[in-house]
Amino acid sequence: MKEEIFLCSICNINSGTCLEDCKFCSQSVRYKADIDRYKQKGLDLILQEAKTARKAGALGFCLVTADKGLNDKTLAFVCGVARAVSKEVPELRLIACNGTASLEQLLTLKEAGIKAYNHNLETSENFYKEICTTHPWSERYETCENVNKSGLVLITGGIFGLGETQEDRISMLHSLNSLQPTSVPINFYHHNEALELEPNKLTVDESLKLIQLTRDTIPHAKRIMVAGGRELMFGERQNEIFAHGANSIVVGNYLTTAGRVASKDLEMLESLNLGIATSVK
Ligand code: SF4
Repeated sequence: MKEEIFLCSICNINSGTCLEDCKFCSQSVRYKADIDRYKQKGLDLILQEAKTARKAGALGFCLVTADKGLNDKTLAFVCGVARAVSKEVPELRLIACNGTASLEQLLTLKEAGIKAYNHNLETSENFYKEICTTHPWSERYETCENVNKSGLVLITGGIFGLGETQEDRISMLHSLNSLQPTSVPINFYHHNEALELEPNKLTVDESLKLIQLTRDTIPHAKRIMVAGGRELMFGERQNEIFAHGANSIVVGNYLTTAGRVASKDLEMLESLNLGIATSVK
């Protein structure tokens, strides 16, 4: 039987309004990156994106808000969007990615039809203070624990290429493993000139080894997803990520950067004799 790759699409339902100072993130208002900024994306556009994602083969549809965490207004907005998307495109499996969240807020999302919650640890506990000074790593970890308590599926991962050491990477992967996530999205830092961080210095070979290291360190995760930075990091060698343990990718655009057209990814999977997941295992 063909191995099946889980395709996920990201929908930025609120963009570029975050007051935090994560140095890798162009959504922070502090860095004045040249990106679209809006409080709430219109529902018609979200539904259109959901239909397009499903047509492109995506099973996961992730509702992302750019803020440190949920407040009552954002929670109500995400729940409203979740209900509308579930009704219009019921085949999509809804994921929320809305920052720090309490158990109560997560249960409210679950009631609205959200199946999984994504909150990344981003990097090691030790290195985190070098890339963010406005909130602690422990809050990220606690939100992931809340996700597990809520019964939602936990999706948590991180980002490579921020200037962290190999020791930091290993530490982050062990922390992720301790949370027993179902899916682990890994991102490769995509430099934006408005950000203070140096461009990512990882080579393709090093990055492929990091995918394998993620797979080996978190053996029970059902999915290792290569998310942001795939095209930029791997270029013509994107097809090699699957032989190194990846079994999930983000299709279409990322939060603030363009991905390649979904048909190119589908062609790539076909050429590798890989199938597309049509249900969640
Ligand atoms: S909290 Fe999230 S949205 Fe805000 S700057 Fe950090 S990574 Fe970006």
